[in-house]
Amino acid sequence: MSAGERVALVTGSTSGIGLAIARRLAREGFRIALHGFAPPEGVAAIEEALRKLGAPQARHFEADLLQPAQIERLMAAVAQDHGRLDVLVNNAGIQHVAPIDQFPPERWDAILAVNLSAAFHTTRLALPLMRARGWGRIVNIASVSGLVAAPMKAAYVAAKHGLVGLTKVTALETATEAITCNAICPGWVLTSLVERQLQARHAAEGGSREDVVRQLLVKQPSQDFVTLEQVAALAAYFVSDEAAQTRGAAWNLDGGYAAA
Ligand code: NAD
Repeated sequence: MSAGERVALVTGSTSGIGLAIARRLAREGFRIALHGFAPPEGVAAIEEALRKLGAPQARHFEADLLQPAQIERLMAAVAQDHGRLDVLVNNAGIQHVAPIDQFPPERWDAILAVNLSAAFHTTRLALPLMRARGWGRIVNIASVSGLVAAPMKAAYVAAKHGLVGLTKVTALETATEAITCNAICPGWVLTSLVERQLQARHAAEGGSREDVVRQLLVKQPSQDFVTLEQVAALAAYFVSDEAAQTRGAAWNLDGGYAAA
């Protein structure tokens, strides 16, 4: 598919999986609406890199996804700047690990807001823009935690299961249109989100980094991390015209994690 004038908004694309997806879509010629926290010089460097990769335009939009009013301003700004929105990747996410009886309620609220409610708001505001041009792709970055549970991750597991549910409802409500919605459910990918968990485990349990990584990967049968490029490639497939009848999928990309 030629991306042409098509515009892709990737939330949380200043680092990790979101940045990898933005880079992949830039290579395919999409105009990129970049989003996420980063210092100004970091944002400028990413915009420049995306343009060099092939994006006709790459511009950063600010919004704290904890605030629905800021999400509304984000979507209005993207629509105003580009006059269209063709691809929405709901990728931004946060994590907190604790047993339920010690889980800080404010962390629960924040995880549900960023990982789930933000995707509801961006989706409800993106659909009219996609319908106006009769084509659209929504890709939700869920997690293997959207398919199976793990202790200590009550909010994350609940939010990601919810995101898989939202994906299916969105797919059904758009089923007769050229608009699709699918979810990617990665296992462990080595990003800053996971690096923080590795360091917390290292601080709590000691041992070598190799030991901590081996322990982290114990539920991922391949015993290897999923790569950023592998997640980006699946996102690019969901965005492609070939995926027109792939609807409501929650595709595990997890080294066999969810199969066990
Ligand atoms: P990351 O920390 O590198 O990226 C998270 C992004 O979200 C950043 O750009 C950050 O600025 C943005 N963000 C966080 N809170 C925000 C807020 N309140 N407002 C606006 N932006 C905010 O992490 P990552 O590992 O690349 O995670 C990306 C997505 O992939 C998340 O949804 C995560 O749950 C999911 N995921 C990650 C893994 C993994 O192993 N890394 C596995 C499965 C799913």
